[in-house]
Amino acid sequence: MRILLVEDDAILGDGILAGLKLAEHAVDWVRDGEAARLALLDHPYEACVLDLGLPKRDGISVLKELRERGNRLPVLILTARDSSADKIAGLDAGADDYLTKPFDLAELLARLRALVRRAAGEARPTLEHGGVVLDPASRQVTFNGQAVALSAREYALLDDLLRHQNHIRTRAQLEESIYAWGEETGSNTVEVFVHHLRKKFGADFIRTVRGLGYQLGDVN
Ligand code: CA
Repeated sequence: MRILLVEDDAILGDGILAGLKLAEHAVDWVRDGEAARLALLDHPYEACVLDLGLPKRDGISVLKELRERGNRLPVLILTARDSSADKIAGLDAGADDYLTKPFDLAELLARLRALVRRAAGEARPTLEHGGVVLDPASRQVTFNGQAVALSAREYALLDDLLRHQNHIRTRAQLEESIYAWGEETGSNTVEVFVHHLRKKFGADFIRTVRGLGYQLGDVN
């Protein structure tokens, strides 16, 4: 899934970016509050990791504006150590969770999974359809109980389709979900990955909705 990372500290940002990418997320990283505001206006993210102390516009202001627009995107804020005033202000401005620096990357990833799950109204930690089970914590995929190896993009595409089971996903939405800014998309790539997933999970696993996009099929 696509995540916006807002962090002006280069070393910390690099570390978080690497961790999120390892978890197969498409990540856009911006380093100031104004760039964050613009990115949030333009792109559909599944979650945002937001530092509070930022150049140009602080994180609280970015968050307040997002909520004033009615946007319910899950937001995890990063606060300085021992700053309970920051935590309170962030939560009151509409943050869903916070982490205090320095933090454990594994904890950040687990908290993001929980936020996204909660936002989707899901109780179960795994995503399932037609015998396919995806576990975001371990990034393991099984089909009828057997482990299946997927490339990073195949995994990202499957993750997106499973998270939006009741919706038709357009090719543009799927591309937004699996590629970050500046990543080479090539042509027909979504089609190619759909083809790969059908080979692994059966032709009916994903149905093509002519002229609209794709959706998981009616399989039992
Ligand atoms: Ca900062």
